[in-house]
Amino acid sequence: MKKFVLILIFLPLLRNASISSEIDSAYVYNTYNTIAKRLIMQSMNDSTAWETLAFFCDTFGPRFSGSKELNDALFWAKYALERDSFVNVRLEKVMVPNWKRNTEEAYITYPRNKRINISAFGGSVGTNGIYIEAPVIVVNSFDELKEKSQLVKGKIVVYNFPYKGYGNGVQFRFWGAVRAAELGAVASLMRSISPIGFHKTHTGMTQYVDTINKIPHAAISMEDAALLQRLQDRGVVPKIKMMLNCETREDTISYNLVAEYQGRTLPNEYVAMGGHSDSWDNTPGAHDDASGCIAPWFAIKAMMELGYRPARTLRLVWWVNEENGVRGGKSYAEEHKHEKHRVVFEFDSGVFEPTAIGISGDDKMVAILKGIEPLIKEISPLFEVRKGGGGVDIGPSMKNGIPGMSLSTKGNDEYFWYHHSSSDTPEKVDPLLLNKCIAVIAVATYIYADLPDFISTH
Ligand SMILES: [Zn+2]
Repeated sequence: MKKFVLILIFLPLLRNASISSEIDSAYVYNTYNTIAKRLIMQSMNDSTAWETLAFFCDTFGPRFSGSKELNDALFWAKYALERDSFVNVRLEKVMVPNWKRNTEEAYITYPRNKRINISAFGGSVGTNGIYIEAPVIVVNSFDELKEKSQLVKGKIVVYNFPYKGYGNGVQFRFWGAVRAAELGAVASLMRSISPIGFHKTHTGMTQYVDTINKIPHAAISMEDAALLQRLQDRGVVPKIKMMLNCETREDTISYNLVAEYQGRTLPNEYVAMGGHSDSWDNTPGAHDDASGCIAPWFAIKAMMELGYRPARTLRLVWWVNEENGVRGGKSYAEEHKHEKHRVVFEFDSGVFEPTAIGISGDDKMVAILKGIEPLIKEISPLFEVRKGGGGVDIGPSMKNGIPGMSLSTKGNDEYFWYHHSSSDTPEKVDPLLLNKCIAVIAVATYIYADLPDFISTH
């Protein structure tokens, strides 16, 4: 009798061990190819995801941290997810930064008068409600700034770097004010980080260091930066007059939105998946990142509609405040650190042709999902499963040891035509590509949520 009890106790462990060693890409293909094909078909034939994305952007507009519009959008989404049969739908309180842009104006005043578009960077100090006017020095790089350090004092520095991708431009947004202030500049401006101009300004986060004077830092258009450059190259020292009324207020309340589709057999194990609910204050953020909120929602919806319920719980998370603080990502990692997450997935790369699912786990995690590659290639020939995935919102959870997964898309430079500008609007999102992204997310998250134990170390 005792022996029999022991066998009963160990039977499930033995079973898991043997299944685990059998899991490979062939197992995944054989077990899930029918489900995957049906999820792809369901997602590709859906016309409501793009409509929901457009409704969300058009109704609530910019959803900046600290705004009423952001919280209104979250209250609406809570209602809509309950209507769609998600369970445990809740808003988890997160204190978020509360920076306000307020009014901003800038003019070239010499050698001729011209109003120019300007957008302060998030976190920038203002000019205390007064206009400041100063001569301009244009530089292309931090090296050039250093070479001309004797000429910077009392001036407005304009960074007119050539666009060589987003990563290269970001250094001027993050460090431009600090580097200019060290040399005595009164303000710093930079051309927007975008491969094209059309007089757009693209905002984003900046930063200061406590030991260096804080000066205003803002984006101007590529065309105005080029104009200032040409004037300087002809020996003219242009002047700019500007006023920024931005201010940093007390932190305020917002929320991470959480909604679940409960697992069939392991409801207390989770695959968390989502994007960030906030956008910059100048844009409804259709690509960045309304799409990252809507696509995982509709991926789960596709499973619901087909009656597919994976073993583990799929948890939709809309992290708040990715753009200027990552408070939602940090708060989620802390609040949920005792729960068993198998994977945490983020979509924040814009809606373009899906090119890869990246996974930060061990080689085995990548190898098993390789089984779905041929199925996804049928809709996106460039698609591959590869090692290495992550995102700003899921970074804190990954630090806690949870494997991170993300979807990459072939946006290349097109994403940065719109990114952090008023041009990031729903008609820039192709409904067919949105559906392809939904299909990939549905298949990848379903498989990880359903596989027998697949993580060797955690
Ligand atoms: Zn984003």
